[in-house]
Amino acid sequence: MNTRLPTITLPSGQSVPILGQGTWHMGDGKASIAMEVDSLRQGMALGMTLIDTAEMYGDGASECVVGEALLGRRDEVFVVSKVLPSNASHQGVRAACERSLSHLGVERIDLYLLHWREEDTPLAETVATFEELKAEGKIGAWGVSNFDVADMEDLLAVPGGDRVAVNQVLYNLSRRGIEFDLLPWCQARGIGVMAYSPLDEGRLLRHAGLIQFARARNLAPAQVALAFILAHPGIIAIPKAGSAAHARDNREALAIQLGSKDLAALDAMFPAPRRKVPLEMI
Ligand code: NDP
Repeated sequence: MNTRLPTITLPSGQSVPILGQGTWHMGDGKASIAMEVDSLRQGMALGMTLIDTAEMYGDGASECVVGEALLGRRDEVFVVSKVLPSNASHQGVRAACERSLSHLGVERIDLYLLHWREEDTPLAETVATFEELKAEGKIGAWGVSNFDVADMEDLLAVPGGDRVAVNQVLYNLSRRGIEFDLLPWCQARGIGVMAYSPLDEGRLLRHAGLIQFARARNLAPAQVALAFILAHPGIIAIPKAGSAAHARDNREALAIQLGSKDLAALDAMFPAPRRKVPLEMI
């Protein structure tokens, strides 16, 4: 299999594959760490070299699993991590970044995101700190997560806010709200949209209509759900696979071309938004 995946170029100039890997719940003890590392490595070998984690996930445990998967392969991977809004102050971001670097065992986080917005710290302070870390080489670029259009407009109004590389948001077949406004807003400005929970945390895989749709095409429901997202330009999907077999299945979604009839059938099951839907978050 060709391991080179289609890429998109972020406003930061970084080129990233449109299909990466999520890691929420990794390292929390529900599955073996060896299996989680194996799954990430299988994904990396197949070209899914963007890995998403966060200081919040298992209080650093997920970052440690990623660190293990990176051993000897740091240069192959684009590492994304996130700082909690409770750490969004100047000092807070700097300390959180150091902790994350140490958990990951790396010298630079390629993309560092504010996990969600809270009003306690002004956006300008967080952005200025991100820029400081970028100048020091501790992060390659920065972005946000769970920002709706109004939040993005506020962000672009602060000094340096227009350097945002990515907005990571909930997007999947059953949560299509961003198609109405946030997705076109980001696309128009070249800001990357990273779709989290692209399988709706696994719930989509139990959707009777989707199962039937996939079976009729000899596909897995996860592959259809991912192919739907990846049909939209400017999107990076980050499914979490807990096994090498699931990582392989997900990678194969890139080979699927959904035709106009397929997309119409999916629209009938999962209607597109007709009006503004406030951004949902998990
Ligand atoms: P996903 O939508 O990726 O679904 C994960 C679930 O789907 C797991 O139960 C997994 O099971 C299952 N699964 C994955 N691939 C397959 C497959 N091919 N066949 C069958 N089952 C499959 O949920 P997440 O919430 O984990 O979202 C993905 C990532 O997005 C997170 O891991 C995290 O990195 C990020 N995220 C970011 C948020 C934010 O606020 N910024 C919020 C939530 C998530 P198994 O483990 O057995 O493979």
